[in-house]
Amino acid sequence: MTTQTQKLPLVGLTRSELQEAMALAGVPDRQARMRASQVWSWIYHHGITDFAEMTTIAKDLRARMAQVFSLERPEIITALKSTDGTRKWLLRLPKDEFGKQHDVEVVYIPEADRGTLCISSQVGCTLACTFCHTGTQTLVRNLTAGEIVAQILVARDEVKEWPSQLAQNPNAPASGRFITNVVLMGMGEPLYNFDGVKTAIEIATDPEGIALSKRRTTLSTSGVVPEIARAGDEIGTMLAISLHATTDEVRDVLVPLNKKYPITELLEACRNYPGLSNARRITFEYVMLKGINDSPQDAIRLVKLLKNIPAKVNLIPFNPWPGTDYECSDWETIEVFAEIVNKAGYASPVRTPRGRDIFAACGQLKSESKRLTGKEKRAHNVALEITTS
Ligand code: SAH
Ligand code: SF4
Repeated sequence: MTTQTQKLPLVGLTRSELQEAMALAGVPDRQARMRASQVWSWIYHHGITDFAEMTTIAKDLRARMAQVFSLERPEIITALKSTDGTRKWLLRLPKDEFGKQHDVEVVYIPEADRGTLCISSQVGCTLACTFCHTGTQTLVRNLTAGEIVAQILVARDEVKEWPSQLAQNPNAPASGRFITNVVLMGMGEPLYNFDGVKTAIEIATDPEGIALSKRRTTLSTSGVVPEIARAGDEIGTMLAISLHATTDEVRDVLVPLNKKYPITELLEACRNYPGLSNARRITFEYVMLKGINDSPQDAIRLVKLLKNIPAKVNLIPFNPWPGTDYECSDWETIEVFAEIVNKAGYASPVRTPRGRDIFAACGQLKSESKRLTGKEKRAHNVALEITTS
């Protein structure tokens, strides 16, 4: 008998792969395109996980599909909700081809005008940025396109965003979406999983399915320079760069990849990012680390570095994790820094931190079992997030 894990998972196949797969369920070639299109809509527009519910398809074909295909979702092993509405899920992926099971985390941040979903592209990371908890975990493997898309599907299940769920919700948003934005800012370096990320974004932005807007989808990279232009051409999302420092000396330590692709080369790749304009700016992420990268001189250098690049700056308060030597900059220091960036022509709305009580940041969930000290907890509470645009 075929077991669940031996069935072909459909989530993560491109449209043409899905069409080819139809033959496995005995669909004749001439019908494959139409059937694939129906199945696509059931999976990605309606969120169906049971072939029996695909009512536009004949019963016997539904039964054959259920025998050979799987729509299994990753299992939610932890679900957390912050007092501010931020939600976080730890997902256990179905066993992979090596029989291994891995967990990934997904964070949903609701705001007045948007809902942002933060997803992962790898299990662990190879890049070992010194302030990042994920960097302390070795890379286990790239996530497949299906595993990346599944994070969005599970989040849609949980926030109840499928059409049948929205229809029953008198408070459903007029846009029909709770998740308006997706950011690849969870675990891993998306440009080291180029193909998986590319296919996942292609699926998630398909207009007949999840239909996310590419302008509301952001890929964050620590600076894999040779892949940046290709990402613009072939993936076409918005780009965020984890800059975090204004000199190579400091960035070499914070983001060791800088030794390979230093700041000048990185910013040159940014200037050449396909589709860049004032309406499509690059976001520069800058984590505020006490005494490391947060001086007024850093702010002045930052403004100079970004000259002539359509840019937004995202000042991220450092989110401490057990065992780290870094501390988040003081509030006043962040204000001075923001003010300099501000005066250089960037508006800077100040945002309060989100989900600090559930450790909603890169690589944080798995560290939760190790208790934070009182000092670390206080640091969570004083931290803030500033976005300049
Ligand atoms: N690997 C990619 C995307 C994942 S990290 C990248 O580095 O861009 C997403 C963002 O979270 C990055 O800007 C990263 O530097 C930041 N980050 C990582 N650990 C953090 C921490 N402890 N506190 C605040 N920001 C952190
Ligand atoms: Fe990897 Fe990004 Fe963390 Fe650096 S900041 S270790 S690139 S996940």
